[in-house]
Amino acid sequence: MEVELTAPNGKKWMQPLGLFINNEFVKSSNEQKIASINPTTEEEICSVYAATSDDVDKAVTAARKAFRDKSWKSLSGTERGALMLKLADLVGQHAETLATIECLDNGKPYSVALSENLPEVQNVLRYYAGYADKNFGQVIDVGPAKFAYTVKEPLGVCGQIIPWNYPLDMAAWKLGPALCCGNTIVLKLAEQTPLSMLYVAKLIKEAGFPPGVVNIINGHGREAGAALVQHPQVDKIAFTGSTATGKEIMKMASATMKNITLETGGKSPLIVFEDADLDNAATWSHGGIMSNQGQICTATSRILVQEPIYNQFLEKFKAKVQEVSVVGDPFEENTFQGPQVTKQQYERVLSYIRAGKEEGATVMMGGEPAPQKGKGFFVAPTVFTNVKPSMQIYREEIFGPCVAIVSFKTEEEAIELANDTTYGLGSALFTKDLTRAHRVAREIEAGMVWINSSNDSDFRIPFGGVKQSGIGRELGEAGLTAYCHVKSIHVNMAA
Ligand code: ADP
Repeated sequence: MEVELTAPNGKKWMQPLGLFINNEFVKSSNEQKIASINPTTEEEICSVYAATSDDVDKAVTAARKAFRDKSWKSLSGTERGALMLKLADLVGQHAETLATIECLDNGKPYSVALSENLPEVQNVLRYYAGYADKNFGQVIDVGPAKFAYTVKEPLGVCGQIIPWNYPLDMAAWKLGPALCCGNTIVLKLAEQTPLSMLYVAKLIKEAGFPPGVVNIINGHGREAGAALVQHPQVDKIAFTGSTATGKEIMKMASATMKNITLETGGKSPLIVFEDADLDNAATWSHGGIMSNQGQICTATSRILVQEPIYNQFLEKFKAKVQEVSVVGDPFEENTFQGPQVTKQQYERVLSYIRAGKEEGATVMMGGEPAPQKGKGFFVAPTVFTNVKPSMQIYREEIFGPCVAIVSFKTEEEAIELANDTTYGLGSALFTKDLTRAHRVAREIEAGMVWINSSNDSDFRIPFGGVKQSGIGRELGEAGLTAYCHVKSIHVNMAA
């Protein structure tokens, strides 16, 4: 049920392979497995057990039992918070191993995993641990004949389905508020990145969570994911992933009228006005699309630049890509960009690049594979100019290090271009004009606006989208509303 792995950085660890149900690792009922591929070398790392619908049923049954069991149900918020704090500490103690697994399995640079993703996991767990004994109801004064109050109650069993781009962070964003409110969980990991959260499963047990409170499974989306969404004993589905899958999930969840939270795709605009600090704009707009190999749902993948500064901005953006976007082995210290997560994603990004070329856009930089020592799913950071709003590369989510830059004349036109999309997740704008900044921020149809930055996400601030980018919010206080309901209690004082 475990295998010893060694990474290129010399780190060794025991990698669990089973389904984590009731605080134990078990095989899948038919022993089927999913192989995890190292995107840098294209070699298999190991295979993990993949849940069948029977296994999903076992995990849900465990979560249901745990939800009703005193060992979890009768804990005070303070006690739940203490368990979460313990888990955050353990994640910190194992940060180097977890960053190593993430680098190996996902292809993201080790330095980024260690300095950004691991702290995020701890921050989110600690933030919601703090809320666990501060999330209470109200007393509502309706006069002397009635005493009325509300209590916030957990929803029950939460099915959580996460993607592969931030395996640890996406899990923390979902576990944090769910545990804070007293729910129990079946978390399904993405097929492409099954390893790091299985290691965290060991830490969950070590932290002292009762069996069945957190169950973690691997499995195929259409099999295990769909079984979870359709299971009648699951009260809520929280999903992060593509818009197409989000729509399917919404449909399936309707049969049992589940509470849902969806965080889906985006094609986020970034507007650079002529009065902007162009060095600052170039720095953030580069990070906003090229970080994490461009595999970010809020990636600001459409850059809109006001005409008078268009050429000047292009020069600065190009210089930034040349200076910062070092493509290479993700275990190397100075690597900024590792491989795309899988061959399929790599080919998908390349097919968009081909479409951009065929539709007549200009490749200012990149536009081709960038294998390292002849291997790996690497794509050169790609910048398209002369892009028309009708082009695929402008309209569709590419999920790779590929950006479309267009020019605009007026503020009105910029807003129109920004909103000309079925998505509404992130957005960014650059200007030194305070009133314009706030005026335009209000006009953009998106769940988040960054003024003079991009993708500067923060665990204390709500995250989520409008339009076809999702339903509901994660993070911040708003993230709690997705995991509890308000029960009203009326007491007849005249009785
Ligand atoms: P991507 O296309 O980037 O792989 P998906 O949205 O397909 O993203 O996958 C995100 C998560 O949703 C993964 O954990 C995947 O297994 C799961 N998933 C995919 N299809 C389904 C489905 N039909 N029902 C439930 N979960 C699914």
